[in-house]
Amino acid sequence: MPFSKLGLSPALLKAISFQKYERAYPIQEVVIPAVLEKKDVLGIAKTGSGKTASYVLPLLVNLENVAATKNRHVKALIVVPTRELAIQVREVFQLFSSQLEHPIKTMAVYGGVSINPQMKAMMGVNILIATPGRLLELVESNAVHLSEIETLVLDEADKMLNLGFKEEMDRIFKLLPQKRQNLLFSATLSEDISGITEILLRNPVVLKIEEETEDLERINQLGYFVSEEKKGPLLRYLIKHNNMKQVLVFTSSTHKADMVTEKLCKNGIDAMAMHSKKSQETRERALNNFKRGNIRVLVATDLISRGIDIEFLPHVINYELPRSPKDYIHRIGRTGRAESSGEAISLITPEEAHHFKIIQKKMGKWVTMIDAESLEF
Ligand code: AMP
Repeated sequence: MPFSKLGLSPALLKAISFQKYERAYPIQEVVIPAVLEKKDVLGIAKTGSGKTASYVLPLLVNLENVAATKNRHVKALIVVPTRELAIQVREVFQLFSSQLEHPIKTMAVYGGVSINPQMKAMMGVNILIATPGRLLELVESNAVHLSEIETLVLDEADKMLNLGFKEEMDRIFKLLPQKRQNLLFSATLSEDISGITEILLRNPVVLKIEEETEDLERINQLGYFVSEEKKGPLLRYLIKHNNMKQVLVFTSSTHKADMVTEKLCKNGIDAMAMHSKKSQETRERALNNFKRGNIRVLVATDLISRGIDIEFLPHVINYELPRSPKDYIHRIGRTGRAESSGEAISLITPEEAHHFKIIQKKMGKWVTMIDAESLEF
């Protein structure tokens, strides 16, 4: 469906056309009109479905009249599980607010960085994107007030619960006015999520985007049987031999991520590591360099993989397998997004072979395997 039929303003339609979005994704067709009508929404959809724009665009319409307020009462609150997602959501808000007549001030706040600059910059913010812990700290220091919130968005609510933010979320709910709009997005509908939706949502518009199978169809999956010692040389061979320009490599530990990165760099392949032990600044720098094509390889662990949103990422390589099949699907889903195709390669040692079989069985898809011994590298 064209965006012009969804009730958005001309300024937003112009910003959308700058992004070269040709038509609305299914989630956007449903969520945009619902948010404009101030309805509650329950969206079961994962990253890659277009869910961010589905709430960002209508919120900008709904909030255009509140722009330029000069106090610490934010009007819309987006709660997210990770700093990376906070930054990305803010970027989407900025992207689309560029053409608005009255600027809307957005800000992303998260822990792991100094709180003082965030406290100072909070004045006049209309839309706040926050991780739960830092949000509560800011409320406690009176840097922000939540009593005038018109819309609450919980993005990646399942991840928030997985990371143990339930208690913080409950505390946040208590700070909000009774009358408000609630939008909840989650990749899955677990029992815990149902518990939250029951207390939070009033007669919501519910939609479920079953994208995983479609996404998997777009991903060309390959596996290589290889010994542990030869994983490094094989990785470098694959990158060089196939002339891969932008590769996301997954390891299961931060230590391994650092090791792989170091080896790649030593062999003339520009790489950076991004994991929970790196400082926030380093993580942001790595992601930005990777997105801009300044480095060829980003080596990451699972914890932060949710936050990595890159359009047209062509290659994902599992240097090591994740523990759960769900994480495997999530990892390879970083490629083949936004309706483009991609390639996912897994390096499998004899010890990992059985586990990889289980993953394939759960995924319902068998991956073509190549014996690395047959290659000359
Ligand atoms: P999300 O699910 O919000 O993480 O979005 C996934 C990706 O799809 C992002 O890179 C967006 O820029 C892109 N995207 C979202 N909506 C559209 C659309 N209607 N047309 C083309 N790309 C889109």
